[in-house]
Amino acid sequence: MDENKLMEQCYENLIVIDVGANLTNKKYSRDLDSVIQRAKDSGVQKIMVTGTSVKCSKEALRLTRIYPGTLYSTAGIHPHDAKSYTDETWDELVEVAKNPECVAIGECGLDYNRNFSEPDEQRRVFEKQIELACELKKPLFVHEREAHDDLLEILGKFLDKLPPVLIHCFTGTTEHAMNYLDKGFYLGLTGYLCKDKSDTGVRKLLVDNLIPLDRLLVETDAPFMYPNTRASKLPVHVKDGLTERSMTFLHRYCTFQRNEPCSLPAIVEMIAAFMNKKPEEVALATAFNALKLFGLSQ
Ligand SMILES: [Zn+2]
Repeated sequence: MDENKLMEQCYENLIVIDVGANLTNKKYSRDLDSVIQRAKDSGVQKIMVTGTSVKCSKEALRLTRIYPGTLYSTAGIHPHDAKSYTDETWDELVEVAKNPECVAIGECGLDYNRNFSEPDEQRRVFEKQIELACELKKPLFVHEREAHDDLLEILGKFLDKLPPVLIHCFTGTTEHAMNYLDKGFYLGLTGYLCKDKSDTGVRKLLVDNLIPLDRLLVETDAPFMYPNTRASKLPVHVKDGLTERSMTFLHRYCTFQRNEPCSLPAIVEMIAAFMNKKPEEVALATAFNALKLFGLSQ
């Protein structure tokens, strides 16, 4: 490729980093290579593969070895999976977490929305993972649904030694977001943005510019959280902010059944439009935050 063409691509492409994609999901077992190639073509330079159980964290680490420099992993037990905790598998998780390609502990946290595991169990397994993150000095990748107060209380016990904390796929209220930001935590936003119909949620946060750019990260949470840009409630200026290029990746490859990391540029464009900022500015800031927070080497 000649140099001009390359330069052109740099200008056209948003360079973004997806800090949360569930690429160990069986929905990708047939064509992961293409999924990753499409992500790169769309401008997603690096992807963090979320570990949600011991088994899945091991698999996520394995993937980082196949795509070095592109994929990174996390190691953790999702609150839904807290009931699967055993002392034996915990030791395995710790071993996985010690690898340099594993850049965060989680996803871990509390989910009282569905309570697939008992709240007591969730809290116990969450605390173990916080302790591990403190010990290994790796950031925490946190999942929270309808458990804001308990989550803050538990994290509060560790505040003096806590590593950086990312509240991933934030879907709460502006008030909750402010509480997290006050504690110095980072917020991860996804295609949920299209689903948010409240007056006090994620959209409000962006419109009122309440999230400093140096605390914002972006993620797809693929195969979940498909950004439905056709949602009728998306304001006109946000729809207008979407480029043909990002829409091509979104509509050609992503569906409700299977979102892909290549939808991230569209998400960034929407976030930027809501914030009244340039997409390049949001892309650059969030990519920088990801590199800094998780130490993703080049
Ligand atoms: Zn989650």
